Amino acid sequence: MSVLLNEANALRQQLVTWRRDIHQHPELGFRETRTAALVARELQALGLEVMTGSAKTGVVAVLGEGSPVVALRADMDALPLQEANHVTYASQTPGVMHACGHDAHTAMLLGAARVLANMKDRPAGEIRFLFQPCEETHDEEGKSGAQRMVEEGVLDGVDHVFALHVDSEMEVGKVVASKGYMTANVDNFYATIIGKGVHGAHPDQGVDPIFLLGQVISAIQGVVARRIDPIKPAVLTIGTVKAGLEGGENVIPAEARLTGTMRSYDSETRENLITELERAVSVARALGGDYVLEIVRGCPSTYNDPDVAEVLSERVKVLLGENAIIPHDVSMGGEDFSFMTSKAPGAMFMLGAKLDHVQRAHHNPVFDISEDVLPMGTALLADAAVTLLKRAAERP
Ligand SMILES: [Zn+2]
Ligand SMILES: [Zn+2]
Repeated sequence: MSVLLNEANALRQQLVTWRRDIHQHPELGFRETRTAALVARELQALGLEVMTGSAKTGVVAVLGEGSPVVALRADMDALPLQEANHVTYASQTPGVMHACGHDAHTAMLLGAARVLANMKDRPAGEIRFLFQPCEETHDEEGKSGAQRMVEEGVLDGVDHVFALHVDSEMEVGKVVASKGYMTANVDNFYATIIGKGVHGAHPDQGVDPIFLLGQVISAIQGVVARRIDPIKPAVLTIGTVKAGLEGGENVIPAEARLTGTMRSYDSETRENLITELERAVSVARALGGDYVLEIVRGCPSTYNDPDVAEVLSERVKVLLGENAIIPHDVSMGGEDFSFMTSKAPGAMFMLGAKLDHVQRAHHNPVFDISEDVLPMGTALLADAAVTLLKRAAERP
C-alpha cells in the first residue's frame, strides 16, 4: 500500500472529526467565516504560511517555495436546504446543509496539507492550498469564489491545479478521471415578452403576450434540434414561465416572462446557443409584440488537461487499485473550478462516496456520503501534488 495512503488512513479519525464539525456548522457562499477560521487555525498549526480573506472568505496556504507550483483546491460552501438526515452530525443550522460534499472536500484538503507538511522527501517547489468560498452560487456582481480567486491572482505562477469532487451515487473508491470536457458552460437567460394588455373579449385590440409566448417556446425547442451541430452536446431548458394574474381569466396581460438555462462544452456552441436563442425570442417581434432578453453568463466548462488527467489516473490505480478508474462520464452540470483550469492546466476527478442503498443525490435533503472516502481523497490529493511537482520539474 502506498505510504501516503497509510498516512491518510492513520488520519481517519481526525478527518471524520473535521468533516462532522463542518457538516454540523454549514455556511452559505461568501459567508464561510467559521469554516475559514477552522481551516486557517489547522493550517497555521502545521506551520504553513496562511492568508485569509481571499475572495472574501477563502483561505490560501503555502507549503514550500520556488517553482514549480502546484495548487490543490477545495470548496467550502453549503446549500440553502433543510437536512432531513437524523444523524448525530446533522446540520445544526436550520435551512442550511452541506448537501454537495464540500465539507468532505475541505476535510480531505486539510488532511492532504497535514500529510504533505509532514512528508520528509517532499519534492522541491511550492504547494498552494486553495480553500475556496462560494462554488454553488455567486455574489451580487455575478461572481463565484473561484472566479474571484483567479481575479485576485491566487492562481498566478501555478503550473498545475487539481481538485476532487465526491459523488454520492458512485461506489466508494471508484474514480472518474475525465480527459477533456467534464462540466458544461452554464448560461442562464431571462426573457420578457412584451404585448399590449386588453380585455379578454377583444384580443384584436391588444397584443396577446401569451400567444406570443407559445410561438417563442416552440421556436426555442427548435434551437438545439435544428440550429446546433448535432455532433456537439447542447441543452436549452426553459425553467419558468409566468403570465397573467390569479383571477385574471378575462384579462390579456401586458407581458409574459420566461427564464431558462443553456449548457454546452465548446465556446462556438456556447455562442451559437445565445445567438439562436435570441432569434427564437425575436419571433415575438415578428408577431407584433416586442421582447427584452438578458443573458447571464455563468461559469465556463471545465476542461481536464488530457496529459495531467492521464498521469494522475495512473496514480489513482496505484493508490486505489487497477479497477478504481471507471469510464469517462461527462456532465452538463456546472462547476466553477473551470475558472482555475482555464488559468493553469489541471484536472478535477470525481471520487465515489456512496453511503448505502438509499438514493442520496447531490443537492438533496437526504444527501450523505461514506466517510471511508476521506482517507482516500486525502491520499489522492497529496499524491497528486507530489506527482505534479515532479512532472512540472522534469518538463522545461
Ligand atoms: Zn453542488
Ligand atoms: Zn459541489
